[in-house]
Amino acid sequence: MVIAPVKGKINFKYILSLLILIFFNSAYAINIIEKNDYSPLIFENINIPLSLLNISGIPFTSFHVLNDIQRARSQKQIADLCQRVDLTYKKLNWGKSPCFSVPWKYDYVSENGNPLIYWDFVSDTMDEDQKKNITVVLGGVHPDELTPVHLAFQFAEALQKNPDLYANSHVIVAPLVNPDGFFTNPPKRTNANGVDLNRNFPTATWNKYAYQVWLKSKQKDKRKFPGYFANSEQGTRFQADLLEKFHPDKVISIHAPLAFLDLDYEIPQLLSIGKLTDQQKKARNLAELLSRSAGNYKIKDIGIYPGSLGNYAGNERIIPTITLEMSSSNPKFVKKFWNDFSPGLFKAIKYEFKKHQFADIGNTNTDNQ
Ligand SMILES: [Zn+2]
Repeated sequence: MVIAPVKGKINFKYILSLLILIFFNSAYAINIIEKNDYSPLIFENINIPLSLLNISGIPFTSFHVLNDIQRARSQKQIADLCQRVDLTYKKLNWGKSPCFSVPWKYDYVSENGNPLIYWDFVSDTMDEDQKKNITVVLGGVHPDELTPVHLAFQFAEALQKNPDLYANSHVIVAPLVNPDGFFTNPPKRTNANGVDLNRNFPTATWNKYAYQVWLKSKQKDKRKFPGYFANSEQGTRFQADLLEKFHPDKVISIHAPLAFLDLDYEIPQLLSIGKLTDQQKKARNLAELLSRSAGNYKIKDIGIYPGSLGNYAGNERIIPTITLEMSSSNPKFVKKFWNDFSPGLFKAIKYEFKKHQFADIGNTNTDNQ
């Protein structure tokens, strides 16, 4: 027969031995820290040669595992997005989408968790000068305008299949800036928060005008809601970040259905009191080149909105920004639009455009006016 020990005595013994253990262990640990403070305690008992440990004590192999997990997760997210793009393509009778044919990457996800994909097409064989001719092409900012999404995806696929098209240039294509709006049924202009991603850029005039003007407007057009704060949306940050990261020489944003080309590149004109700088002339030539390629497509100056890309990039950052407004959002016209506009886009990415230097202002050669 087993006699149960008296509870109180046993507890006392256990507590005492526990205290002794804790005391010695912590003294030992402190001792290690003092003696070898470079030695990572967490891997003390793992037999890892020091050469495989990085400075913070995490084995390089762990980074590899974490990187692999991260990479697999990213690829899964992109594959999920492309599947949804495929489904939407089917609904629109566009056949299979080219989404799976480009490797894509992303640094941002939308409010609904969709990756904001882009790819930079740059050849390894380019020299540094060639890499400097950088163009950002954006599609799907307003995805109820269906035709630009198709044009941007097909443009990316064409570059992917034929690297000669971007020889001597560096092109970044983000075909679906607003996936949440595209996957809504039916697709809508604004993002998941109901914000117009072409009115939310943090421009100098945003605080004073964007929300106030919208609020005071009679119709309060929900489709053009600029957000409660500038730069409040993932899609806005994503576009701004592409400009920050790649420092493009020109930006082309594809929209519909207003049927014109609009060039935003205003500040140098104001500073040079009406005279065109050489850079401005080149920017105009670029717009004209696109126009000519599309059968003398109309060029129109529609002005700028607080919080628009044209304002943020074209005027405040002096990056020639072309808004290509195709003439219809009707999904039936995508083939025609590809034939009309792709030749101009292929020429535009090769069009060399030196970044604007403030020194250029004032050096205007009036003989060339
Ligand atoms: Zn638009």
